[in-house]
Amino acid sequence: MRWDQDYVSHAGKQDHIIAGFDVFGYEDAQAVVRAAERAQSPVLLMINRDARRALELMHWSALLHSLANEAKVPVGVHLDHCSDLEMVRYAIDAGFTSVMYDGSKLPLEENIRNTIQVCEWAHKKGVQVEAELGNVPYDELGETEIRFTSPKEVEQFCQETSADWLAVSVGNVHRLLGRKVDVDFHVLQEIEAVCSVPFVIHGASGLQDQNFAPLRHSRVGKINVGTALRRAFGETLRQEVIDNPKTYDRQLLFQKPVACVEETAYEIITDLCQDHTVGRKMA
Ligand SMILES: [Zn+2]
Repeated sequence: MRWDQDYVSHAGKQDHIIAGFDVFGYEDAQAVVRAAERAQSPVLLMINRDARRALELMHWSALLHSLANEAKVPVGVHLDHCSDLEMVRYAIDAGFTSVMYDGSKLPLEENIRNTIQVCEWAHKKGVQVEAELGNVPYDELGETEIRFTSPKEVEQFCQETSADWLAVSVGNVHRLLGRKVDVDFHVLQEIEAVCSVPFVIHGASGLQDQNFAPLRHSRVGKINVGTALRRAFGETLRQEVIDNPKTYDRQLLFQKPVACVEETAYEIITDLCQDHTVGRKMA
């Protein structure tokens, strides 16, 4: 099914959250779609920098849209973290249903100016725009500084741009392994008070279990999941390779890892709609 409306904004107003999953090939993309169909929930397939390095956007667009069109639930095709305006424009023209323009490292005025431009391109085509304020660090790059999203900046940003979703830095960390962090709900509430856009939480795999119930009740409409699926795939594949030294066929070696990706995605999606914790599934 087409991603024919803004399911993230809808989720932000309700007590559930849409999951966006970074995918890296047709196998995991298909597994995520199957999981969303079983959970009867909309879902977003996201293309991040690593995926873009491996395959050009036009190919991703064709591949993911053919999966989305056949799906029994709305499947969005999302461009994750992109600070290159030309690439964002290309993705909009290539049919991506939402794009993240990430100007969070720029001065506020420049981020605002560029986001306004992206919204102009995107909204003409019914494409939703995610913007970011503050900085969500990448643990694997050794980044330790969390620059929290400033409520003052959010207020100005939301008055001047028409971004549909806002990624916020509220204690969350990208690609966290071996430890968990907590959302600072005080900061989140301060931000909620000054705008009406739904929020996106990146680095959801690294959040403590007890964060998810209050997140569902907040204005968060989307969480980004990368590490949980990468880990499910990588750990299962490693075991398969060790257990089957004479198997060379990619499709055979991928069977269990892809099934594990589907189960992990299914558990995350279903838990995001329900009133219990999701964190243990995302370890
Ligand atoms: Zn991110």
